[in-house]
Amino acid sequence: MTEESVTAVRLAIVGSGPAGLTAALYAARANLEPLVIGGVPGGGQLTLTSEVENYPGFPDGIQGPELIELFRKQAAKFGARFMDDNVTGVDLTHRPFTLRTGTNGIVRARCVVVATGANARWLELPNEQRLRGKGVSACATCDGFFFKNREIVVVGGGDSAMEEALFLTKFASRVTILHRRGQLRASPILQQRARAHPKIGFVLDVDVVDVRGGEAVEGIVIREHGSGATRTIPAQGLFVAIGHDPATQVFRGALELDDRGYIKTREITRTSVDGVFAAGDVYDHRYRQAVSAAGLGCMAALDAEKFLEADAPEATSAPGVTPPVRVGL
Ligand code: NAP
Repeated sequence: MTEESVTAVRLAIVGSGPAGLTAALYAARANLEPLVIGGVPGGGQLTLTSEVENYPGFPDGIQGPELIELFRKQAAKFGARFMDDNVTGVDLTHRPFTLRTGTNGIVRARCVVVATGANARWLELPNEQRLRGKGVSACATCDGFFFKNREIVVVGGGDSAMEEALFLTKFASRVTILHRRGQLRASPILQQRARAHPKIGFVLDVDVVDVRGGEAVEGIVIREHGSGATRTIPAQGLFVAIGHDPATQVFRGALELDDRGYIKTREITRTSVDGVFAAGDVYDHRYRQAVSAAGLGCMAALDAEKFLEADAPEATSAPGVTPPVRVGL
């Protein structure tokens, strides 16, 4: 039987988006030598974004993947280590906590920051992914600015769809909300605001069938429930606002989650398990911005540092451990 590789660390950070990498930067500067188990491919939602214009400090904007690379470089400079792997199982019932990885064996950590983020739901249209960044988006705050005087379609009947549509009226000439039922799910106040807005129109009881366009979005194909007829709504933008799914499957049963799967926290970053902290979209379904996720990553690292200061030193190392298998960039 081959012996499984075991890596012992004081702090493991799971996830490598803005939250995880900011936690890594702060923890590394506090000499905690954090190990970032970044996921494969890693980097989070920013790696799927084109230009980011609202991250402070970049007046000319920056490409999402480049911003992530800079985060990573900055954390590595102060000693953060990286394991490009997925966490496939956890045991958080006692310390050190155990994190099982896909290909690098087991990581034992005295403290863990969970920053695995969330993923926007997509409509699974034939041309949706091909036109992402070319008119298809799931984030009005990120991309709305690029749609000045354009016609935009927003899909969804919840609060996010109303909020995205209202936000997009700042730029668009017209915003059409498409919803699959006759009734909206959104809270009455947001519905009222959207319905009262002169630039917003509604098309209800329809399915979105596809998005049309070569190098840019040109129209949204819909099917009406009643007649079954299909038609194309001319539009240069398609914003999908049908919800997000937190990446928490692996923590199910180990951490307290809410009914939608987001990690429940108290005092901002503390989870239901002492010594496990959460940062970013994995619990914050409200703001979901790179900068707010980074801020929460900072808070989680500071909380982890305090926790480790107070923690019993005998839990620091296990006999026979190997150093991290993949170190550095
Ligand atoms: P949500 O409430 O789950 O709404 C998702 C919407 O997308 C629903 O109308 C749903 O239709 C539709 N949908 C889901 N899957 C679809 C599919 N495959 N095709 C077409 N339509 C689909 O999600 P959310 O709007 O992102 O809100 C998430 C949570 O955050 C909610 O609790 C919300 O109240 C909260 N939130 C609050 C605010 C605020 O208070 N300002 C702002 C944003 C979000 P059905 O209605 O038919 O299910």
